[in-house]
Amino acid sequence: MILSDLQLSKLSQNHEITVSIDQDLARYNSFRLKSSGDLISVKSLKALRDVVHFFKSERISYRVIGQGSNLVLPETSNWVYLKLELPLASNILNEPQIEYNLPASVQLSLLTQHALKFGLSGWEVFTGIPASLGGAVAMNAGTNLGEIGNIIIDIQVLKSDGEMYSHTKTPASFSYRRNNFLHNGDIIHSVRIKHFGIDSEIPKKIRDYQALRKKTQPLNIPTCGCVFKNRKVVEQGEEKIIRAGQLIDLVGLKGRSVNQLQISHVHANFFENLGRATKEDFLTLVQIVNDEVQSKYGFKFDMEVEVW
Ligand SMILES: Cc1cc2nc3c(=O)[nH]c(=O)nc-3n(C[C@H](O)[C@H](O)[C@H](O)COP(=O)(O)OP(=O)(O)OC[C@H]3O[C@@H](n4cnc5c(N)ncnc54)[C@H](O)[C@@H]3O)c2cc1C
Repeated sequence: MILSDLQLSKLSQNHEITVSIDQDLARYNSFRLKSSGDLISVKSLKALRDVVHFFKSERISYRVIGQGSNLVLPETSNWVYLKLELPLASNILNEPQIEYNLPASVQLSLLTQHALKFGLSGWEVFTGIPASLGGAVAMNAGTNLGEIGNIIIDIQVLKSDGEMYSHTKTPASFSYRRNNFLHNGDIIHSVRIKHFGIDSEIPKKIRDYQALRKKTQPLNIPTCGCVFKNRKVVEQGEEKIIRAGQLIDLVGLKGRSVNQLQISHVHANFFENLGRATKEDFLTLVQIVNDEVQSKYGFKFDMEVEVW
């Protein structure tokens, strides 16, 4: 428990703020490792500002959690988890718009439904990615079809000192699975996105890609998505990608487990949590993979998932 009873009672006076002490975090992240902590949810920009101001004055550290699909959480922590539950204007997804100003907490799956219905070109890039919009922007989430950075106009951010700023996208704003503009403690509040017109091919593209993901990824078991980054190498002047999943398969580690955590038989870059695995189990399995890859190929993989 990070928050004192006094802090808890002060925060609880605001009806747009919900505080859960020692919350089991399993339902707040896709990997469902054994983890608990103090979780604060905010329902408006005003509540978010109030909470950030409170954190600053009480010197409380916090981390923002989106849909929790790219995180390895510790069993306990010395920070509070901050979750945005901002309202989505009821009519915004009724018709296609030229651009959309959306709260960071909106789920990408909702936006995919909208793109499917109206054939929005450019929105196919995030098909099947389990994420909040804020988390997807922070990670520059993407697929073989492209990345979310492509369709961003600008991003509204609240800093840990309570100031707001707007970041207008430039070519330097994003690189592979990362953003280059957020600083420690920054919270994405809302994002303006566009599309590249209506295209009748888009619904089929999205459906085909959804079907492909179902076949090639373990989607019904708790995972954190890809554990390792694919590796870029240059051989005889040519850039090649070494796919982490293929290499883990090649070194014979598919199905290898540590307690209740197992390397997926479906896709070896996914670790499946078969019960209440822990961060420690995760780190042990990462080490097993990297030791094997190092001994056979002389390198270690970089992590794709964020380990907290
Ligand atoms: C089955 C599965 C498949 C996946 N497939 C893909 C894929 O194809 N492509 C891909 O790119 N990823 C994939 N992922 C990983 C994950 O979906 C993405 O990284 C996604 O962008 C994470 O979004 P989130 O909302 O869950 O963020 P979280 O995991 O909650 O957080 C990720 C990071 O974003 C930060 N963050 C979240 N919200 C905010 C905010 N409002 N303001 C500031 N920072 C914030 C967090 O602090 C953290 O640093 C997959 C994951 C799973 C489980």
